[in-house]
Amino acid sequence: MTPLAKQLAEQIMANGPLSMADYMGQCLMHPELGYYTTRDPLGTVGDFTTAPEISQMFGELIGLSLAQCWLDQGAPDRFVLLEAGPGRGTLMGDALRATKSVPGFLAAAELHLIEGSDPLRGAQKDRLDGFDPTWHIGFETVPEGPLYLIANEFFDALPVRQVERSDGGWCERRIGLKEDALSLGLNQETQMPALEHRLQDTKPQDVVEFSPVGQMLAEAIGTRIQTQGGCALIVDYGDWHSLGDTVQAVQGHEPTGLLDAPGEADLSAHVDFEALAVAAPCAHTRLTPQGVFLERLGITARAEALAQKLQGEALESHIAAHRRLTHPAEMGTLFKVLGLYPQGGTAPPGLEP
Ligand code: SAH
Repeated sequence: MTPLAKQLAEQIMANGPLSMADYMGQCLMHPELGYYTTRDPLGTVGDFTTAPEISQMFGELIGLSLAQCWLDQGAPDRFVLLEAGPGRGTLMGDALRATKSVPGFLAAAELHLIEGSDPLRGAQKDRLDGFDPTWHIGFETVPEGPLYLIANEFFDALPVRQVERSDGGWCERRIGLKEDALSLGLNQETQMPALEHRLQDTKPQDVVEFSPVGQMLAEAIGTRIQTQGGCALIVDYGDWHSLGDTVQAVQGHEPTGLLDAPGEADLSAHVDFEALAVAAPCAHTRLTPQGVFLERLGITARAEALAQKLQGEALESHIAAHRRLTHPAEMGTLFKVLGLYPQGGTAPPGLEP
C-alpha cells in the first residue's frame, strides 16, 4: 500500500466511499502525497512525455498562433499571457523565444502560470528566468484583462466523475474498501438532470464521465475571453463526446491498475471537448486534430529550416519528432485542439470556426 492509499483508506472508514473525482483529485494533487505535488513526472526517465518536450517547434508555433490572435484583435497594449499546467516551462520558453520577432507582443504581455506542483514551479522558474511569471493555484486569482491562454495536457489531469447508466438513471462509481483494500463500487441509482441528454445516446451499463472542475474553468475562461478579449488554445487527447471509462493510470511509461499506486502513478482522463465548448460562453472553433493544426501553422517549413543546421543522430531525432507530433499513427490524430475566441471575432490561426 502506498502512503496515500493508507490515508485514503482512513478517510473512507471515517466518511464513506470517495467519488472518482475525489480519488483522482487527491491522487494527483494531495498537498504532501500527490503525484504532481511530489515530483516532476515528465521526460523519457519520468512517467510520460509531452509535445513540448518532444520538439521546440510545438511551443514556437503555439506562441505564434497566440501572437497572431493578439494582432488580429488590435494588439491590446496590456494583456495576460497565461499557461495552465506548464510542466517544465518548456512550451512557454519556446513560445516566448519565437514571439520576440512580433513587435510589441512581449512588452504588452504579463506572464501568469497556473501550477499546483512545487517541483514543477521550480523547473518553470529556471526555464523562464528573466520573464518574471506570477504563479496561481487556479484561475480565480489571475488578473483582469484580455486573456491569451494555452493549456497542453492540462484538462486531462482534472478530476472526472464517472457514472454508469442503469435502466432509468445513473449509478455513480465510488472507491470504497473491501477487506481493507481500495475497491471500486457503485452508488444507488439516481436521476441526474445534467445528464438528461445522454439518456438518448447511451444504453444500460455504459459509462459516462464529466468534469465539474473542467467545466467551471472553461466557463470562467470563456467569460473572460468574451467580455475582455483574447483566445484560448486547449490541446489534449479526447474527443467531441465522452463515452466509456477513459481514466487511465500510467507509471514509468506503462499502464498500471487504477487503484494500484495512488499518488505514485499518473491518472488522467480523455477530455470531453463538447462539454468545455458548451460551458464557455464565447465562440469556439471546430475540434481539430493536432497534426492538421500544426501543418496549417507551417510545421513542415519550420522543420526544414531547423534541419539545415542538423546532421547525424540530431537530424534523425528531429525528423522523428516532427513525425511524432503530426503523424496520424502517433500524436497527430489522438491529440486535438479546441480554440475559444470572442463571438464575431477571428478564430485563432490553425483552426476554423
Ligand atoms: N503542459 C505541460 C505539462 C503537462 S502535465 C506539457 O505539455 O509538458 C500537467 C500539468 O498540469 C503539470 O504541470 C501539473 O502539475 C499541472 N496540474 C495538473 N492538475 C493541476 C491542478 N488541478 N491545478 C494546478 N495544476 C495542475
